[in-house]
Amino acid sequence: MTYRSSWMTEELDAFRDPFRKFLAKELAPNAEKWRKQKMVDRSAWRALGEMGALLPSVPEAYGGLGATFAYDAAVFEDMADVAPDALGGVTVSSGIVAHYILNYGSEEQKRRWLPGMARGELIGAIAMTEPGAGSDLQGVRTHARRQGNAYVVNGQKTFITNGQTADLIIVVARTGEPGAKGLSLIVVETSGNDGFRRGRNLDKIGLHASDTSELFFEDAIAPPENLLGGEEGQGFTQLMQQLPQERLIIAVCAVAAMERAIRLTVDYTKERKAFGKPIIDFQNTAFKLAERKTEATIARVFVDWCVGRLIAGDLDAVTASMAKYWCAQKQVETVDECLQLHGGYGYMQEYPISGMFVDARIQKIYGGTNEIMKLLIARSL
Ligand SMILES: Cc1cc2nc3c(=O)[nH]c(=O)nc-3n(C[C@H](O)[C@H](O)[C@H](O)COP(=O)(O)OP(=O)(O)OC[C@H]3O[C@@H](n4cnc5c(N)ncnc54)[C@H](O)[C@@H]3O)c2cc1C
Repeated sequence: MTYRSSWMTEELDAFRDPFRKFLAKELAPNAEKWRKQKMVDRSAWRALGEMGALLPSVPEAYGGLGATFAYDAAVFEDMADVAPDALGGVTVSSGIVAHYILNYGSEEQKRRWLPGMARGELIGAIAMTEPGAGSDLQGVRTHARRQGNAYVVNGQKTFITNGQTADLIIVVARTGEPGAKGLSLIVVETSGNDGFRRGRNLDKIGLHASDTSELFFEDAIAPPENLLGGEEGQGFTQLMQQLPQERLIIAVCAVAAMERAIRLTVDYTKERKAFGKPIIDFQNTAFKLAERKTEATIARVFVDWCVGRLIAGDLDAVTASMAKYWCAQKQVETVDECLQLHGGYGYMQEYPISGMFVDARIQKIYGGTNEIMKLLIARSL
């Protein structure tokens, strides 16, 4: 029986076929170059924009397609399968940053930023993590003070996706008292902002084409209207409202990666022979793949249900945490086992499973670590 995601539509079928061909022809061949230069070319962003793949669930008035999150899910799945090197930055700019602006930005801000982001001309980042504050965001020390007609931002962020390329960065900054209530989200525009400095493009064990950076704010300036939501002190609540979508995106990408890993491994084990027969004919190989296929199917059905809940507007934080934690965990286990079934070739960079292995590992850490996900789930018991 062929399974079809409950959120798929004929319109999405018509989009996905040419989109996957575009990814294979225009983006995938650049992967090695991007990995070497540790970032994706801007031309790829613009090409994705032209395909209608950026900000699809943003209204047409702001440059999007006015579609639902199903469209985002389709884009992320196809990228995870066909051109995974370009995926990380796109999920952040298109799937996360754009939605903060859409939900909390003023009319003027939405018109100023979203159409450029949809065209791939503006790249967005979100800077929560600091050297001394990751899981515990209440410990954020970067601060923004009102001085005259501007916010003056000081502090340091780290591990920021799109940090080298971002034109606008949503900065989690302290505008008031210690703790959650003193946090605000302020958009810092990077162009011509003398107090803003990009640090190193960090050396990672995987995700080599995705730039991940330190950022420095030393009297960086943001106009007061760049405070998202109009009032100070709402940052933590805004983060809590948006994190379910971010976490579901991680789960969507995890399922696509699991399915790809299994497909690649089935193909490989049918080709590769040992002791006179294809290695898939060993019961251990076939059983391992049967187990992984079962788990990937369970993950897909659960994630599809979560996508439906998000589209309906009622995906709660606990369920999104379950999806993020479990799918990331299963992705890591699946790619590890699939690499094992490739033998020594699985450890060679020319086989895609080796890249999938190192790229998967971060899924248990970013977007809230899996331990933090379990904390959130446990609190609801
Ligand atoms: C490639 C990459 C991209 C990233 N992109 C971004 C980005 O775009 N924007 C951004 O803001 N951040 C980003 N991050 C940062 C990421 O979200 C953080 O690394 C993550 O939230 C964990 O924070 P930490 O690294 O400070 O770890 P810590 O918070 O120091 O955690 C260390 C360990 O302690 C555990 N731990 C902490 N608290 C508890 C607890 N209460 N109970 C049990 N265990 C606990 C954690 O689970 C973890 O295992 C990125 C990171 C990487 C590596």
